[in-house]
Amino acid sequence: MQVLFTFDYELFFGADTGSVEKCMIEPTADLLQLSKNYKIGMTFFVDVGYLIKLEEYAQNHAQLQSDLAKVKAQIAEMVSLGCSVQLHIHPHWEKSSYDGQKWQIVTDNCYKLDDFSDAEIEQIVKRYYLYLQQLTGKSVHSFRAGGWCIQPFSRLQKVFKELGLKVDTSVFPGGKFQSPHYDFDFTAVPAYSPAYRFERDVCIVEPNGYFTEYPIASWKYSPMFYWKLYVLGRLQPGRHKMIGDGSFLAQPGRKKSVLTNFTWNHVSADGYYAGMLKRQAASYQSKGVEHFVVIGHPKGLTVYALEQIERFLKATRNKYTFPTFSDLPCN
Ligand SMILES: [Zn+2]
Repeated sequence: MQVLFTFDYELFFGADTGSVEKCMIEPTADLLQLSKNYKIGMTFFVDVGYLIKLEEYAQNHAQLQSDLAKVKAQIAEMVSLGCSVQLHIHPHWEKSSYDGQKWQIVTDNCYKLDDFSDAEIEQIVKRYYLYLQQLTGKSVHSFRAGGWCIQPFSRLQKVFKELGLKVDTSVFPGGKFQSPHYDFDFTAVPAYSPAYRFERDVCIVEPNGYFTEYPIASWKYSPMFYWKLYVLGRLQPGRHKMIGDGSFLAQPGRKKSVLTNFTWNHVSADGYYAGMLKRQAASYQSKGVEHFVVIGHPKGLTVYALEQIERFLKATRNKYTFPTFSDLPCN
């Protein structure tokens, strides 16, 4: 089985974005150290909208100039280590701004690409794609939608094809969430789904489709899991508090839902989730799944998560392979 570690490289999008050091630079440095030590491929989905905004404001704000230099240097390090750097789009950066002290994040009616017109979508995707390709000097072929909001894909299909963005990894089987900001429904994709081809609808298999979906592995988590997750963060903040120092965009109703029902969510390297990796990977392997895609966020890592990721790598590095999205045959 191939284990694909993927990390969305970004700030927070709630009231407080957090600092670039705590949300991105420091935790990513720890991940890159693991990548080096264990010779593990990692794929970073870079929030390009943020970088473009940094470029825009850096000339007039020394702090942002320094942030931009740090982020660019770290992306260069990812590339030099053989990690794959791919496209992550959070289009709300289009409406967000910097007030001289902090980012003023605007997410209403602009959190997902579907909130924009066809012309705007085409322009945003092209601009972000070209920026990333120029920055890394490498081929950009894979995509993850911000907030998993990739639907309806028919609105992205044309520009993705034009640019050669042929691989997506936004879907997690069983996942569904609708709120004023979020809108995705992956309940049509069966659990333990292998990679599949698609064309107009990211949830419908089309054997001759141009695009390939590598679904993020998903898992049915018990309410008890979330009780522990929320309690441990308070009882043992040293090990279980996120390294990132910002706040999440609200997901109204979600906390209550996960504390009272079994819910599908990602297989994740973040926080308390990372302790499940070994068991989840074994379960996927037993079902014959070829690609086990794990999602993580540097900002969402904890001391505990980093320990658990390392434990997982030590235990499984001879059992599984750990390619990047650039190593997949479709590229
Ligand atoms: Zn994201």
